[in-house]
Amino acid sequence: MFARKVFVISAALAAAVSAAPSPTHAGTTTKATTKAKSTAAADKPKAQSKPAKPKNDGYTVDANTPGTDSDEWRTADTVVGGADRIEGNEADKNLVAFTFDDGPDKNTTPLVLDALDRYNIPAAFFIVTQRIVGKHGEIPRQLLEREYKAGHLIGSHSVTHKHLGKASGVLLDKEVDGSLRTLVRITGRHVGLFRPPFGALSKEGKTRVSQRGLTNTLWSIDTLDWQAKSGEKLRAKVGKMILADKGGVVLMHDVKKITADVVAGIFDDLEADNCAKLAAGQPPIIPVSLHYFLKRGKEARPIPAEVAARTEAYRRELPNRCAKRPAIVAKPATTTPAPAPARPATAAPGVGTGVIPVTPPR
Ligand SMILES: [Zn+2]
Repeated sequence: MFARKVFVISAALAAAVSAAPSPTHAGTTTKATTKAKSTAAADKPKAQSKPAKPKNDGYTVDANTPGTDSDEWRTADTVVGGADRIEGNEADKNLVAFTFDDGPDKNTTPLVLDALDRYNIPAAFFIVTQRIVGKHGEIPRQLLEREYKAGHLIGSHSVTHKHLGKASGVLLDKEVDGSLRTLVRITGRHVGLFRPPFGALSKEGKTRVSQRGLTNTLWSIDTLDWQAKSGEKLRAKVGKMILADKGGVVLMHDVKKITADVVAGIFDDLEADNCAKLAAGQPPIIPVSLHYFLKRGKEARPIPAEVAARTEAYRRELPNRCAKRPAIVAKPATTTPAPAPARPATAAPGVGTGVIPVTPPR
Protein backbone atom coordinates (compact mmCIF):
# COMPACT_ATOMS: atom_id res chain seq x y z
CA MET A 1 0.00 0.00 0.00
CA PHE A 2 1.21 3.44 -0.78
CA ALA A 3 -1.19 5.35 1.35
CA ARG A 4 1.30 5.56 4.12
CA LYS A 5 2.50 8.87 5.27
CA VAL A 6 5.58 10.14 3.61
CA PHE A 7 8.71 10.70 5.56
CA VAL A 8 7.80 8.44 8.39
CA ILE A 9 11.08 7.12 9.52
CA SER A 10 11.08 4.66 12.32
CA ALA A 11 12.47 5.81 15.61
CA ALA A 12 14.83 2.87 15.55
CA LEU A 13 16.29 3.93 12.25
CA ALA A 14 16.55 7.53 13.28
CA ALA A 15 18.22 6.58 16.53
CA ALA A 16 20.60 4.21 14.85
CA VAL A 17 22.02 6.89 12.74
CA SER A 18 25.23 8.67 13.11
CA ALA A 19 26.04 11.23 10.52
CA ALA A 20 26.93 9.23 7.47
CA PRO A 21 29.61 10.68 5.30
CA SER A 22 28.50 12.72 2.38
CA PRO A 23 28.65 10.92 -0.90
CA THR A 24 31.30 12.04 -3.23
CA HIS A 25 30.31 13.36 -6.57
CA ALA A 26 31.60 12.67 -9.99
CA GLY A 27 35.24 13.37 -10.39
CA THR A 28 36.24 13.64 -6.78
CA THR A 29 38.10 10.99 -4.96
CA THR A 30 35.82 8.12 -4.18
CA LYS A 31 36.51 6.26 -1.02
CA ALA A 32 34.62 3.49 0.57
CA THR A 33 33.76 5.60 3.53
CA THR A 34 30.70 3.79 4.59
CA LYS A 35 31.90 0.42 5.70
CA ALA A 36 30.06 -0.51 8.82
CA LYS A 37 32.23 -0.57 11.85
CA SER A 38 29.75 -2.59 13.80
CA THR A 39 31.96 -5.63 14.21
CA ALA A 40 33.86 -4.09 17.10
CA ALA A 41 30.73 -3.89 19.16
CA ALA A 42 29.77 -7.41 18.27
CA ASP A 43 33.12 -8.78 19.48
CA LYS A 44 32.40 -7.98 23.09
CA PRO A 45 29.93 -10.32 24.63
CA LYS A 46 27.65 -8.17 26.71
CA ALA A 47 24.90 -9.12 29.03
CA GLN A 48 22.38 -6.87 27.43
CA SER A 49 18.95 -7.73 26.21
CA LYS A 50 18.97 -5.42 23.24
CA PRO A 51 21.25 -6.21 20.33
CA ALA A 52 23.59 -3.43 19.31
CA LYS A 53 22.01 -1.18 16.77
CA PRO A 54 23.78 -1.29 13.46
CA LYS A 55 25.57 1.81 12.32
CA ASN A 56 23.56 3.39 9.59
CA ASP A 57 25.59 3.15 6.44
CA GLY A 58 22.83 4.07 4.06
CA TYR A 59 22.05 0.45 3.31
CA THR A 60 20.16 -0.07 6.51
CA VAL A 61 16.55 -0.90 6.07
CA ASP A 62 14.06 -0.93 8.87
CA ALA A 63 12.12 -4.14 8.53
CA ASN A 64 9.18 -2.67 10.41
CA THR A 65 8.58 -0.02 7.82
CA PRO A 66 5.83 -0.83 5.36
CA GLY A 67 7.10 -1.89 2.01
CA THR A 68 10.39 -3.33 3.07
CA ASP A 69 9.21 -6.88 3.45
CA SER A 70 7.30 -6.88 0.25
CA ASP A 71 8.17 -6.40 -3.35
CA GLU A 72 6.75 -2.91 -3.48
CA TRP A 73 10.19 -1.45 -3.90
CA ARG A 74 10.61 -3.43 -7.10
CA THR A 75 9.15 -0.47 -8.78
CA ALA A 76 6.65 -0.26 -11.54
CA ASP A 77 6.69 3.28 -12.78
CA THR A 78 5.19 2.83 -16.19
CA VAL A 79 5.25 6.55 -16.95
CA VAL A 80 9.00 7.11 -16.90
CA GLY A 81 10.34 3.63 -16.14
CA GLY A 82 11.34 0.95 -18.58
CA ALA A 83 12.23 3.23 -21.47
CA ASP A 84 15.35 3.00 -23.60
CA ARG A 85 18.53 4.48 -22.25
CA ILE A 86 18.42 8.25 -22.35
CA GLU A 87 21.46 9.90 -23.86
CA GLY A 88 20.00 13.31 -24.53
CA ASN A 89 19.36 13.10 -28.26
CA GLU A 90 15.96 11.41 -28.07
CA ALA A 91 13.78 14.49 -28.10
CA ASP A 92 13.09 17.00 -30.82
CA LYS A 93 15.52 19.86 -31.13
CA ASN A 94 14.95 22.98 -29.06
CA LEU A 95 13.95 21.08 -25.94
CA VAL A 96 16.23 21.08 -22.94
CA ALA A 97 15.89 19.03 -19.74
CA PHE A 98 17.86 20.00 -16.65
CA THR A 99 19.01 17.23 -14.32
CA PHE A 100 20.72 17.48 -10.96
CA ASP A 101 22.70 14.72 -9.27
CA ASP A 102 24.05 13.72 -5.88
CA GLY A 103 21.60 15.55 -3.60
CA PRO A 104 19.61 16.54 -1.76
CA ASP A 105 21.83 18.86 0.21
CA LYS A 106 20.36 21.08 2.88
CA ASN A 107 22.47 24.09 1.89
CA THR A 108 22.56 24.02 -1.88
CA THR A 109 19.48 22.14 -3.08
CA PRO A 110 17.05 24.81 -1.81
CA LEU A 111 18.77 27.40 -4.00
CA VAL A 112 18.39 25.19 -7.04
CA LEU A 113 14.72 24.60 -6.22
CA ASP A 114 14.18 28.35 -5.76
CA ALA A 115 15.69 29.03 -9.17
CA LEU A 116 13.56 26.34 -10.83
CA ASP A 117 10.47 27.86 -9.22
CA ARG A 118 11.38 31.34 -10.31
CA TYR A 119 11.78 30.40 -13.95
CA ASN A 120 9.05 27.73 -13.90
CA ILE A 121 11.45 25.08 -15.12
CA PRO A 122 10.92 21.36 -14.49
CA ALA A 123 13.92 19.24 -13.57
CA ALA A 124 14.94 15.74 -12.60
CA PHE A 125 16.85 15.02 -9.41
CA PHE A 126 18.94 11.89 -9.02
CA ILE A 127 19.21 11.02 -5.38
CA VAL A 128 22.08 9.44 -3.50
CA THR A 129 19.84 7.70 -1.01
CA GLN A 130 22.44 7.56 1.74
CA ARG A 131 21.61 11.23 2.14
CA ILE A 132 17.95 10.71 2.93
CA VAL A 133 18.07 8.09 5.66
CA GLY A 134 18.23 8.52 9.38
CA LYS A 135 18.54 11.66 11.40
CA HIS A 136 20.99 13.42 9.13
CA GLY A 137 18.49 12.82 6.34
CA GLU A 138 15.65 14.80 7.88
CA ILE A 139 16.15 17.98 5.90
CA PRO A 140 17.12 16.14 2.72
CA ARG A 141 13.86 14.18 3.03
CA GLN A 142 11.95 17.43 3.27
CA LEU A 143 13.76 18.68 0.20
CA LEU A 144 12.94 15.47 -1.62
CA GLU A 145 9.28 16.03 -0.86
CA ARG A 146 9.58 19.61 -2.05
CA GLU A 147 11.07 18.32 -5.30
CA TYR A 148 8.11 15.99 -5.81
CA LYS A 149 5.58 18.66 -4.95
CA ALA A 150 7.12 21.07 -7.45
CA GLY A 151 6.54 18.48 -10.17
CA HIS A 152 10.15 17.47 -10.64
CA LEU A 153 11.13 13.91 -11.47
CA ILE A 154 13.04 11.84 -8.96
CA GLY A 155 15.43 9.06 -9.81
CA SER A 156 17.91 6.87 -8.02
CA HIS A 157 21.60 7.67 -8.17
CA SER A 158 22.58 4.64 -6.02
CA VAL A 159 23.01 4.46 -2.26
CA THR A 160 26.61 5.59 -1.77
CA HIS A 161 27.68 6.77 -5.22
CA LYS A 162 29.96 3.83 -5.92
CA HIS A 163 31.37 3.25 -9.39
CA LEU A 164 29.25 0.47 -10.84
CA GLY A 165 31.24 -0.12 -14.00
CA LYS A 166 32.13 -3.64 -12.88
CA ALA A 167 29.34 -4.17 -10.40
CA SER A 168 27.67 -7.51 -10.02
CA GLY A 169 25.48 -9.43 -7.60
CA VAL A 170 25.92 -8.14 -4.09
CA LEU A 171 27.00 -4.64 -5.04
CA LEU A 172 23.98 -4.24 -7.32
CA ASP A 173 21.77 -5.59 -4.55
CA LYS A 174 23.15 -2.90 -2.29
CA GLU A 175 23.43 0.06 -4.59
CA VAL A 176 20.54 -0.40 -7.01
CA ASP A 177 17.97 -2.38 -5.06
CA GLY A 178 18.98 -0.71 -1.81
CA SER A 179 18.40 2.77 -3.19
CA LEU A 180 15.03 1.78 -4.65
CA ARG A 181 13.97 0.26 -1.36
CA THR A 182 14.86 3.46 0.46
CA LEU A 183 13.22 5.78 -2.04
CA VAL A 184 10.01 3.79 -2.16
CA ARG A 185 9.90 3.39 1.59
CA ILE A 186 10.46 7.05 2.28
CA THR A 187 8.38 8.60 -0.45
CA GLY A 188 5.71 5.98 -0.98
CA ARG A 189 6.14 6.45 -4.71
CA HIS A 190 7.47 4.23 -7.43
CA VAL A 191 10.82 4.98 -8.99
CA GLY A 192 11.30 4.92 -12.74
CA LEU A 193 14.68 6.48 -13.36
CA PHE A 194 18.20 5.39 -12.51
CA ARG A 195 21.37 7.30 -13.22
CA PRO A 196 24.55 5.33 -12.56
CA PRO A 197 27.25 7.26 -10.70
CA PHE A 198 29.88 8.47 -13.17
CA GLY A 199 27.58 7.15 -15.91
CA ALA A 200 29.24 3.76 -15.42
CA LEU A 201 27.21 0.59 -15.34
CA SER A 202 28.27 -3.02 -15.91
CA LYS A 203 26.38 -5.33 -18.21
CA GLU A 204 24.88 -7.04 -15.20
CA GLY A 205 24.01 -3.64 -13.83
CA LYS A 206 22.17 -2.71 -17.00
CA THR A 207 20.25 -5.96 -16.79
CA ARG A 208 19.37 -5.25 -13.17
CA VAL A 209 18.22 -1.74 -13.94
CA SER A 210 16.10 -3.08 -16.76
CA GLN A 211 14.67 -5.86 -14.59
CA ARG A 212 13.62 -3.28 -12.04
CA GLY A 213 11.74 -1.39 -14.70
CA LEU A 214 14.08 1.58 -14.55
CA THR A 215 15.17 3.85 -17.35
CA ASN A 216 18.94 4.20 -17.48
CA THR A 217 19.29 7.96 -17.69
CA LEU A 218 22.45 9.58 -18.99
CA TRP A 219 22.95 13.03 -20.49
CA SER A 220 24.21 14.91 -23.53
CA ILE A 221 25.42 18.17 -22.00
CA ASP A 222 28.05 17.55 -19.36
CA THR A 223 28.64 20.88 -17.69
CA LEU A 224 31.50 19.58 -15.53
CA ASP A 225 30.16 21.92 -12.88
CA TRP A 226 31.82 19.82 -10.17
CA GLN A 227 35.23 21.00 -11.28
CA ALA A 228 34.31 24.60 -12.12
CA LYS A 229 36.20 27.31 -10.31
CA SER A 230 34.52 30.40 -11.71
CA GLY A 231 30.78 30.82 -11.47
CA GLU A 232 30.71 33.32 -14.30
CA LYS A 233 32.61 31.01 -16.60
CA LEU A 234 30.41 28.07 -15.67
CA ARG A 235 27.29 30.11 -16.31
CA ALA A 236 28.50 31.29 -19.70
CA LYS A 237 29.70 27.83 -20.67
CA VAL A 238 26.44 26.08 -19.85
CA GLY A 239 24.45 28.64 -21.83
CA LYS A 240 26.74 28.22 -24.79
CA MET A 241 26.51 24.42 -24.67
CA ILE A 242 22.71 24.51 -24.61
CA LEU A 243 22.61 26.90 -27.55
CA ALA A 244 25.19 24.96 -29.53
CA ASP A 245 23.33 21.65 -29.14
CA LYS A 246 19.88 23.25 -29.40
CA GLY A 247 18.93 21.56 -26.14
CA GLY A 248 19.43 18.06 -24.79
CA VAL A 249 19.83 16.67 -21.30
CA VAL A 250 21.95 18.86 -19.05
CA LEU A 251 23.92 17.33 -16.19
CA MET A 252 24.62 19.41 -13.11
CA HIS A 253 25.00 18.76 -9.39
CA ASP A 254 22.69 20.37 -6.88
CA VAL A 255 25.19 19.58 -4.12
CA LYS A 256 27.73 22.00 -5.57
CA LYS A 257 27.73 25.51 -4.20
CA ILE A 258 29.00 26.99 -7.42
CA THR A 259 26.08 25.40 -9.27
CA ALA A 260 23.54 26.55 -6.71
CA ASP A 261 24.94 30.06 -6.96
CA VAL A 262 24.77 30.36 -10.74
CA VAL A 263 21.84 28.18 -11.71
CA ALA A 264 19.35 31.07 -11.59
CA GLY A 265 21.70 32.99 -13.83
CA ILE A 266 21.81 30.07 -16.25
CA PHE A 267 18.02 30.02 -16.38
CA ASP A 268 17.96 33.77 -16.82
CA ASP A 269 20.40 33.53 -19.71
CA LEU A 270 18.24 30.87 -21.32
CA GLU A 271 15.23 33.13 -20.99
CA ALA A 272 17.16 36.07 -22.41
CA ASP A 273 18.36 33.94 -25.30
CA ASN A 274 14.83 32.75 -25.91
CA CYS A 275 13.55 36.31 -25.92
CA ALA A 276 16.19 37.21 -28.47
CA LYS A 277 15.19 34.21 -30.56
CA LEU A 278 11.53 35.20 -30.42
CA ALA A 279 12.43 38.70 -31.46
CA ALA A 280 14.41 37.27 -34.37
CA GLY A 281 11.61 34.90 -35.37
CA GLN A 282 13.56 31.81 -34.35
CA PRO A 283 12.28 28.93 -32.24
CA PRO A 284 13.15 29.22 -28.56
CA ILE A 285 14.73 26.38 -26.60
CA ILE A 286 12.06 25.24 -24.20
CA PRO A 287 12.99 23.80 -20.81
CA VAL A 288 11.04 20.58 -20.38
CA SER A 289 10.74 17.56 -18.18
CA LEU A 290 12.74 14.43 -19.05
CA HIS A 291 9.44 12.89 -20.16
CA TYR A 292 10.17 14.26 -23.62
CA PHE A 293 13.29 12.11 -23.88
CA LEU A 294 11.57 8.80 -23.15
CA LYS A 295 11.37 6.37 -26.00
CA ARG A 296 10.86 2.68 -26.53
CA GLY A 297 12.31 1.78 -29.87
CA LYS A 298 11.20 4.56 -32.15
CA GLU A 299 8.09 5.25 -30.18
CA ALA A 300 7.97 8.23 -27.86
CA ARG A 301 6.19 7.82 -24.57
CA PRO A 302 2.94 9.74 -24.23
CA ILE A 303 3.49 12.98 -22.35
CA PRO A 304 1.28 13.21 -19.25
CA ALA A 305 -1.27 16.00 -19.52
CA GLU A 306 0.12 18.02 -16.61
CA VAL A 307 3.62 17.80 -18.05
CA ALA A 308 2.46 18.96 -21.47
CA ALA A 309 0.48 21.75 -19.84
CA ARG A 310 3.56 23.02 -18.07
CA THR A 311 5.53 23.06 -21.29
CA GLU A 312 2.75 24.94 -23.04
CA ALA A 313 2.54 27.38 -20.15
CA TYR A 314 6.22 28.17 -20.58
CA ARG A 315 5.74 28.75 -24.30
CA ARG A 316 2.69 30.88 -23.68
CA GLU A 317 4.28 32.89 -20.91
CA LEU A 318 7.57 33.47 -22.65
CA PRO A 319 6.48 36.57 -24.62
CA ASN A 320 5.08 38.09 -21.41
CA ARG A 321 8.28 37.36 -19.57
CA CYS A 322 10.25 38.87 -22.43
CA ALA A 323 8.08 41.98 -22.35
CA LYS A 324 8.97 42.43 -18.72
CA ARG A 325 12.67 42.20 -19.37
CA PRO A 326 14.06 45.70 -19.64
CA ALA A 327 16.28 45.05 -22.60
CA ILE A 328 16.28 42.52 -25.34
CA VAL A 329 19.46 42.47 -27.25
CA ALA A 330 19.01 40.53 -30.44
CA LYS A 331 21.95 38.27 -30.92
CA PRO A 332 23.59 37.91 -34.27
CA ALA A 333 22.62 34.76 -36.09
CA THR A 334 26.21 33.64 -36.23
CA THR A 335 27.71 31.24 -33.75
CA THR A 336 30.14 33.86 -32.50
CA PRO A 337 30.29 33.38 -28.76
CA ALA A 338 28.96 36.79 -27.93
CA PRO A 339 28.48 37.66 -24.29
CA ALA A 340 25.01 37.12 -22.94
CA PRO A 341 22.58 39.98 -23.45
CA ALA A 342 22.71 42.70 -20.88
CA ARG A 343 20.40 42.13 -18.01
CA PRO A 344 19.59 44.17 -14.97
CA ALA A 345 21.47 43.58 -11.78
CA THR A 346 18.13 42.96 -10.16
CA ALA A 347 17.27 40.12 -12.52
CA ALA A 348 16.80 37.63 -9.75
CA PRO A 349 16.76 39.27 -6.36
CA GLY A 350 16.64 37.01 -3.42
CA VAL A 351 17.36 33.87 -5.37
CA GLY A 352 19.75 31.67 -3.53
CA THR A 353 22.50 33.63 -1.99
CA GLY A 354 21.65 36.54 -4.25
CA VAL A 355 25.09 36.18 -5.72
CA ILE A 356 24.29 35.91 -9.35
CA PRO A 357 27.14 36.97 -11.52
CA VAL A 358 25.81 39.52 -13.93
CA THR A 359 27.34 40.25 -17.26
CA PRO A 360 28.13 43.93 -17.21
CA PRO A 361 26.09 45.88 -19.74
CA ARG A 362 28.09 46.73 -22.77
ZN1 LIG B 1 26.88 11.61 -9.17
